[in-house]
Amino acid sequence: MTWFKKREEEEKEEKEKRGELKISEQLWTKCNSCNEIIYRKVIERNLQVCPKCNYHFPIPARKRIEGVVDPGTFIEYDADLASGDPLEFKDLKRYPHRVKESQEATGQKDAILCGEARIKGQPVMLGVFEFSFMGGSLGSVVGEKVTRLIERAIEKKVGVIIFCASGGARMQEGILSLMQMAKTSAALAKLHEAGLLYISVLTDPTTGGVSASIGMLGDIIIAEPKAMIGFAGPRVIKETIRAELPEGFQRAEYLIEHGMVDLIVERKDLRHMLASLLEMLGQEGQKK
Ligand SMILES: [Zn+2]
Repeated sequence: MTWFKKREEEEKEEKEKRGELKISEQLWTKCNSCNEIIYRKVIERNLQVCPKCNYHFPIPARKRIEGVVDPGTFIEYDADLASGDPLEFKDLKRYPHRVKESQEATGQKDAILCGEARIKGQPVMLGVFEFSFMGGSLGSVVGEKVTRLIERAIEKKVGVIIFCASGGARMQEGILSLMQMAKTSAALAKLHEAGLLYISVLTDPTTGGVSASIGMLGDIIIAEPKAMIGFAGPRVIKETIRAELPEGFQRAEYLIEHGMVDLIVERKDLRHMLASLLEMLGQEGQKK
């Protein structure tokens, strides 16, 4: 009898501990870069930037838009575009099930938010990846929304800014996902022919098919400090070339040293920088 009692008490204690852990997780968070445990509120007050090492935490797409555009100027396009399941793909879960889970978690239909806005009065077409939606993966919907965004920019003769945060292609859509790289690249080529500006902003992380298309095709490529940017992950590269990788490999600071990125801009300065670039280069023909 005592044995059972003891067990009940132990279970109660464990539950309490788990509860405490949950609360402490809500209050504290570990920095992905310097591993420091930091009070969440401090990071929030600091625009989601680590006060110790300046690592820029990923932020939800809507928050990102709020922080960059003039208040009340964002008009969203194609918000209802949602994925089908042409391959009837199933891994551990069915693809439509995964999509539905992400839709419920983020309140969005797919992994990018697109629309028009103004930044310090400058008109622009804006796309922002939502990393919490299936890793910001590039599926048919993201490809279509980006393409429409660019086509609208050409029609209205304004520049395009896309904030990237993505693990790459959406595996559940197979070849259809890979085709989006060609589709968006072709649209960007037309934007270029029209003499209009495209700025890509690479945030942590920008990898795979997105870095290899939308990400690296910017006329001006901006990165956030310490953002991980690359095509294949470091482990895959290490195993393929069988060599140690240099320190800081695939981080924004390494890429700027090697000419892959034009600017590293801190989150607090981004709005100002984007406005200046749009003012200098944003109108048709100014880029040439
Ligand atoms: Zn840190």
